[in-house]
Amino acid sequence: MNPRLLVPFLAAGLGLPACHAAAPAGAPAPAPVAAPDSLRIRTDIAYLASDRLEGRRTGSPGNDSAAAYIARRYRALGLAAMTPTSYLQPFVARPAASAHAGHPEELPSQNVVAMLAGTDAALRGQYVVIGAHYDHLGRSTEGAQDPQAGDVIRNGADDNASGTAAVLELARIFRAAPTRRSLLFVNFTGEEEGLLGSAYFVEHSPVALDSVDAMINFDMVGRLRNRRLIVYGVATGTEFPAMLDRANAGRVDIHGQGDGFGPSDQSSFYAKNIPVLHFFTDLHEDYHKATDDADKINAAGEATVVDIAEQVIRDVADRPRRITFFRVPAKPTVAASSAGSDVYFGSIPDMAAGDVKGERVTGVTAGSPADKGGLRAGDIVVEFGGMEVSDLETYSAALYAHKPGDVVKVVVLREGQRVTLSVTLGRRGG
Ligand SMILES: [Zn+2]
Repeated sequence: MNPRLLVPFLAAGLGLPACHAAAPAGAPAPAPVAAPDSLRIRTDIAYLASDRLEGRRTGSPGNDSAAAYIARRYRALGLAAMTPTSYLQPFVARPAASAHAGHPEELPSQNVVAMLAGTDAALRGQYVVIGAHYDHLGRSTEGAQDPQAGDVIRNGADDNASGTAAVLELARIFRAAPTRRSLLFVNFTGEEEGLLGSAYFVEHSPVALDSVDAMINFDMVGRLRNRRLIVYGVATGTEFPAMLDRANAGRVDIHGQGDGFGPSDQSSFYAKNIPVLHFFTDLHEDYHKATDDADKINAAGEATVVDIAEQVIRDVADRPRRITFFRVPAKPTVAASSAGSDVYFGSIPDMAAGDVKGERVTGVTAGSPADKGGLRAGDIVVEFGGMEVSDLETYSAALYAHKPGDVVKVVVLREGQRVTLSVTLGRRGG
């Protein structure tokens, strides 16, 4: 999950300081569909988020080891590689942030790509991309929400060993029971440096992009709690909402977000007019910190997410007609910028825009200004420093209108009551 792309929603002050041939059509019915296996998911995450991979930073040996692990799994499943010899799509990642900072970096890295051919001769020339980034921050404080911890290993269990494990599990399930259209499994590198792997992929795709019917992304799917599942991009394919409802069958509460642009790799595909979905179990206090470890993963919850996603993908990949692309009108943006601001509050906003007016807080960082001021998880902020808050954007605008040290009045709805708090804003990293 990329914090730079969350600006102005989330930055700094908002609590985040700063080929096997498939069976031909008409062949005997395939074996029963395998169910997602939470133990396998847990095992994959434990490896990918272990200290020996040192946080999988793009261009690092740990990142290469993760790519090799993924490729071995595709080989064991007998999926087709991009080239006769390799599942790897190598390229040199060039982070824009380091170039702007005057020390341009060149990070040799690779996406991992595998293909499962569709069963229907008339449809197998069309594809559904199933993707997740596998890189994380490594030991870098760049993009970290705990820069004060220094160059410790940030394992990124939820971000995004969880998504990587979801894609591996889906590859296993679909290999056992393929779809009519073909499936491309893609593990992106360089996401944390600015969606570099997915940006490279869409410019160097092994299949024509106009043959890609949909892209389904998994970024941070390992912390399902309170039955809340966020899905971005639901309005980008006309058929998606009904498909999600059918697949879910009431198991979780799906909070659909319409737009196809979001803080992860689906944005690269949506920019190419491809319908996208991004499954996401929401932010949490360990996001981009050294504490995002495997022991905090809800593997059974992730298996539920994988099962819902598998049914949606099967629906997309088996239907006679292609998904209908819809360009979601851009929302007018409120002028809110974190640029040059180091103000810090310490609330963790709810990424699912609800029906309520105001911005719901899913958590409060311990010891933060918000914590000291008495803000609690579940509060709905309706006023901040004299400015009305109706959603995440107006919340951001209100926050960035202030500076560290300001004492602000924050009005929240708590169990239906208006509660007024007084909060002394802090300084990011301070
Ligand atoms: Zn991230």
